[in-house]
Amino acid sequence: MAKTTHIAIVSSPGFSHLVPIVEFTKRLINLHPNFHVTCIVPSLGSPQESSKAYLKTLPSNIDSIFLPPISKEKLPQGVVYPGLLIQYTVTLSLPSIHEVLKSLSSKAPLTALVVDVFAFQTLEFAKEFNSLSYFYFPSSAMTLSLTLHLPRLDEEVSGEYKDLKEPIKLPGCVPLLGVDLPAPTQNRSSEAYKSSLERAKAVSLADGIIMNTFLEMESGAIRALDEFGNGKIRFHPVGPITQKGSSNEVDECLRWLDRQPPCSVLYVSFGSGGTLSQQQINELAWGLELSCQRFLWVLRAPSNSSGAAYLENTNEDPLQFLPNGFLERTKEKGLVVPSWAPQVQVLNHKSVGGFLSHCGWNSVLESMQEGVPLITWPLFAEQKMNAVLLVVALKVALRPKFNEDGIVDKEEIAKVTKCLMVEEEGKGLRERINNLKDYAVNALRDGFSTQTLSKLASEWENFATITARSSAH
Ligand code: UDP
Repeated sequence: MAKTTHIAIVSSPGFSHLVPIVEFTKRLINLHPNFHVTCIVPSLGSPQESSKAYLKTLPSNIDSIFLPPISKEKLPQGVVYPGLLIQYTVTLSLPSIHEVLKSLSSKAPLTALVVDVFAFQTLEFAKEFNSLSYFYFPSSAMTLSLTLHLPRLDEEVSGEYKDLKEPIKLPGCVPLLGVDLPAPTQNRSSEAYKSSLERAKAVSLADGIIMNTFLEMESGAIRALDEFGNGKIRFHPVGPITQKGSSNEVDECLRWLDRQPPCSVLYVSFGSGGTLSQQQINELAWGLELSCQRFLWVLRAPSNSSGAAYLENTNEDPLQFLPNGFLERTKEKGLVVPSWAPQVQVLNHKSVGGFLSHCGWNSVLESMQEGVPLITWPLFAEQKMNAVLLVVALKVALRPKFNEDGIVDKEEIAKVTKCLMVEEEGKGLRERINNLKDYAVNALRDGFSTQTLSKLASEWENFATITARSSAH
């Protein structure tokens, strides 16, 4: 009988970074019940309610520890970009991460430390506690490829990437315009860019990179990564890993969806913290109305910074920001819910036929696992790259045009909504995403992702046995 193998994971703050890395460990434990996991969670201000509720549902062989929260006053003033807020929070939490790891390894040897990319500085701790080290990369293989190539691009390209005349060609990926690179790379003198470059340089130093994607979806990029790594960097695609919805959830949205015709509703949501400006909320409302299609819209209070609600709990009622009379005029066709919906169950509902999404990677994978085609509306982080992957490489989404003021106007919204929901082009997208859904099911049943995870688990078990033997001598 195999002894317990201990794994520690370090997430970064924010529900959408916490869930995928924890879901990864749940899957590991499902397949290999002799593993024990401790999940270490940094937070900015008080921990998010959604994260607390989620961690309460974990099985007994996954423990979780909230680190002492970092107070906002400790961060440099004026930082609003989510990636930078996350990075500062993790960096300031390093002493407490170290303390927890020290205490854990004094009780039982740690076999592997699996960390979110924002926790790259913890690689040193893995060395100190003689454990293997892995990054958990929570986005696409294409984004990982950019991350690994960024140090070289930084040396070779002068000026801003967004001004490049030619698209950037990452091996095995569709060409990318500079303007579609992640938000921090749009201004190379910004702190956010410097911080992502520092992370990018560290990523290749771990024993391996666990990726939440799968071979059938990104075969070109994954194979090219293997070539790039040349055996020195090891890649482990184990996805798609997403949270499971609870089947007995009773919720206003789901009851409302029960009353709608099959495949008729466009679900509109911008992730766990995406926000729109007041002007854009107005245009979106008018556009949905103009499209005459059914919709379920998760609305947040407006902000001029698109990731404003990412790490915040807010109490403001967002419905007050809708145009006058909108709710009354659309009450036969639509439902607007404040701030949060049970997304996985919504996407799984037979009435949902499309997803207008900010293209956060979890939303992309969840939509794909339910076979729901998308309208892409990227806001921040690597979401524009995800949109390119969906629209150009996989052809499962439509991308509306932003006007010169950075707004998608109501006519454009109505046009893409109709195209997705009722026109021939939408049918083609739906067929293709349903094919991907089948591949995803296979990857997780006995396909490449499951084989990859089992191989990794065996390597960890062997390492645990060897370290146990050598410490017994
Ligand atoms: N989510 C949800 N309900 C909401 C909004 C988001 O359950 O109303 C979940 C969604 O299912 C996904 C995560 O929050 O798992 C959002 O992650 P994603 O990577 O799509 O975007 P991010 O929040 O990182 O911008």
